[in-house]
Amino acid sequence: MSRDIFVFNTLGRRREKFEPFSPPIVKMYVCGLTVYDYMHIGHARTFVVFDAIKRYLKLRGYDVIYVQNITDIDDKIINRARERGVSWKELAETYIKDYMDNIKKLNINVDYHPRVTEHISDIIDFIKVLLEKGHAYVAKSASVYFDVSSYKFYGELSGRISKDLWRQEEEFVYEKKNPYDFALWKAAKPGEPWWESPWGRGRPGWHIECSVMSTKFLGPRIDVHGGGQDLIFPHHENEKAQSECALGVRPWVKYWLHSGMLTIKGEKMSKSLGNIISLKDLFKKWDPKVIRLWLLSSHYRSYLDFSEESLESSKILLDRILRASQLLSKMVKELGPAYKVNSNEVSIIRGIERTLLEFHDALSDDFNFAKAQSSLNKLLNIIFSKVSQVNNSAVAIVAFKALKDMNEVFGVADEFLAQVPLEQGIPVDSLIDLIVEIRAELRRRKLYDLSDKIRERLSLLGIQLMDKGEKTEWFIKKVKY
Ligand SMILES: [Zn+2]
Repeated sequence: MSRDIFVFNTLGRRREKFEPFSPPIVKMYVCGLTVYDYMHIGHARTFVVFDAIKRYLKLRGYDVIYVQNITDIDDKIINRARERGVSWKELAETYIKDYMDNIKKLNINVDYHPRVTEHISDIIDFIKVLLEKGHAYVAKSASVYFDVSSYKFYGELSGRISKDLWRQEEEFVYEKKNPYDFALWKAAKPGEPWWESPWGRGRPGWHIECSVMSTKFLGPRIDVHGGGQDLIFPHHENEKAQSECALGVRPWVKYWLHSGMLTIKGEKMSKSLGNIISLKDLFKKWDPKVIRLWLLSSHYRSYLDFSEESLESSKILLDRILRASQLLSKMVKELGPAYKVNSNEVSIIRGIERTLLEFHDALSDDFNFAKAQSSLNKLLNIIFSKVSQVNNSAVAIVAFKALKDMNEVFGVADEFLAQVPLEQGIPVDSLIDLIVEIRAELRRRKLYDLSDKIRERLSLLGIQLMDKGEKTEWFIKKVKY
């Protein structure tokens, strides 16, 4: 048994042990952007949070497949394009480009970015299944609706158990069986884009795309479904209803994770208040790395209030991380191999090890980035006040590895921490002994995933570890670099 990860599942509103369907694979889907305007800081929060969650799961040895869709056809896109007198395609392309540019700057890595308009036939097939199974109906206008009353678990995710709380899509209420049914396929109105379907010309409703594209890229069951809290109802409630009915699985999603909202001086961002902050504008003044760190400075489920003052402390943190990375790289490169560590150096190493354990404690407990960031600050204090004072490359390497692990999640110093710079060749015996000793401590604390990782990394450096009961022996392999 290794250290367990616990997550807060919106479904059931409780903290649960993280156990994916088929470890070590974790299938993760996050609702992406509707591209009708520039990406703003609120979107950035959701996407950075889920990117950091994915990175932590990877650090813990999981193989994460991460899908984030792009909604490139929707009422909002059609209306905005009409207002501006441009084609909906042109409008969508403009904002897809802006989105791609921003996520690159924020160091967000997405494995698949499926677009709705590239999956129309898959969507039609999925709707056909819902019709065949009696969970959907074709209305007078040739729109297709999901029959909410055919699914007895509706309301389970959002906690809305009363039908009075389910009303949605008022516009088409006249032709729906019940006011709370939602559109799977919308019949084309004059002047709107359309695709052919068995029910006539039209286009997909919003919710169906996520059920279809997640199934296509991740299969019928997914481990983590993420998005902002504002998507819980109706979007995620509807996705869940469609998927469980069409795919015949339950639960379709094992863990529903939702990130908190971002406010501006205590107010919700909105067009009417004129307080929407686009990344395009924000990045003119602030380094995207500062924004990334700031977005990970609070608990991901809580509200986060934007102010320029609060970004200053993230800027200071970024400077410290970059300075520490450079300092440690230099130390490791310039100091000769360490043949010995004295008691003071051992205590520094112990201090580093403690902050790394605290970091893992924080993130294993529902991805507490705020606490993890304070562990990072503690590590930086040790690096500047202690590691920098001893001329020992072994201590520098331990600090370097700890900082590298933390950066795997925070993702702001990749270029400085890409490789452990063991340029003086194969490390000396005392250094390996030391690493083996730290690994033994991790094993005593049952952190097997971390101890395995050390073994793997040493193996890459040509050092083979052999566990014999409580003891570990090591030897240098003959390998090519
Ligand atoms: Zn979605």
